[in-house]
Amino acid sequence: MITGECFCGSIRYQVEGALRDARSCHCSRCRKAFSAQASAYALVEASEFRWLQGVELLTTYATQPGFGLQFCSRCGSTLCGIHNGVVHGITLGCLNEDPQIEIGYHIYVGSKAAWEVLPAGVITYAEGRPSTQ
Ligand SMILES: [Zn+2]
Ligand SMILES: [Zn+2]
Repeated sequence: MITGECFCGSIRYQVEGALRDARSCHCSRCRKAFSAQASAYALVEASEFRWLQGVELLTTYATQPGFGLQFCSRCGSTLCGIHNGVVHGITLGCLNEDPQIEIGYHIYVGSKAAWEVLPAGVITYAEGRPSTQ
């Protein structure tokens, strides 16, 4: 069981299963959405995710049709991504515990910020991750 919460602690959630496919996206949209050098995001099973408190403070920003980010209207932390109204991933920065998963790859490093220094040895893609299928 892992838990997460926003900066002010008003909104809390738990995830009962394992996170999947942790990644970091360095595109200009993610930099702004996460107020950081990149996103840090992993997928969850919707059935394993549950809000514990503060859901009335959640605000949704629709990023594209069917997709959105949800954040705390009090402190501004970005907590999760939704697809058709259902939580499909969480931001790693709001986790309280070690999720037993590491960021596996970095995408859109071709458009990373000029000021960002990427760590050595990480797996990077200039754009999206090529499909392995
Ligand atoms: Zn908050
Ligand atoms: Zn991005």
